[in-house]
Amino acid sequence: MGPADNGDIESVLLSETEIGAKLDEMAARIDADYEGKDLLLVGVLKGAIMVMADLSRRITHRDVEMDWMAVSSYGSGTKSSGVVRILKDLDADLSGRHVLVVEDIIDSGLTLSWLVSNLRSRGPASVEVASLLRKPTAAKVEVDVRYVGFDIPNEFVVGYGLDYAEKFRTLPYVGTLAPHVYSS
Ligand code: 5GP
Ligand code: MG
Ligand code: MG
Repeated sequence: MGPADNGDIESVLLSETEIGAKLDEMAARIDADYEGKDLLLVGVLKGAIMVMADLSRRITHRDVEMDWMAVSSYGSGTKSSGVVRILKDLDADLSGRHVLVVEDIIDSGLTLSWLVSNLRSRGPASVEVASLLRKPTAAKVEVDVRYVGFDIPNEFVVGYGLDYAEKFRTLPYVGTLAPHVYSS
C-alpha cells in the first residue's frame, strides 16, 4: 500500500504499476545497449533514489556498479535557480567507464546539461542519461536523453522520490499536489 497521502495529492499521474511497466522497458533497452560493456549507474540524489532502486534491479546485465552524486539546483520550492552546486561528488573514477546518469525528472534541463558536461570532462568512455520523467520545457535545452520513461505535462509533481520541501518522496506513485499544500 505505501504511505497515506492524507488528502495532499490532487491526482495520481502515474501509478506504481505504470511506472514498473515502463522501467521494465527501459531496463530491457539498457541491457541490449550495454551488452558486453561494464556499466556505471550514477544516481542523482535525492530524487532519483526510487528510479535507481527499481531500474537497477530490472537490469539483468551483471557488470553494473552504482554511484551517487548530489547536486543542488532547486531550493525547497518549485522553481529552478539555474545554479548548480556539487553537494556530494562521485566515489568512482570515470576514466574509461560507460556512465549512465539516472534521473528522476528533467524540467529546465539546466541541472542535467551542467552535470553531463561535468561528467564528460572526467574522461569516461560514454555518458548517457536515463530519466523517468521529462517535462515539455526540457525541449529548450540541448541534452540528449537516451532513455525517457514518460513525457508529462508542465506541472509540479511529487512522489516516487520527488519532493515538495522534502516531503512526499516515499509515495510509490507520481502525483500532483492539492492547492492547500502550497498555501499552508
Ligand atoms: P531542472 O534543472 O531540469 O529544471 O530540474 C532539476 C531538478 O529539479 C530535478 O532533478 C528535480 O529534483 C527538480 N524538479 C524539477 N521538476 C520537478 C517537479 O515537477 N517536481 C519535483 N518534486 N521536483 C522537480
Ligand atoms: Mg533529479
Ligand atoms: Mg526537490
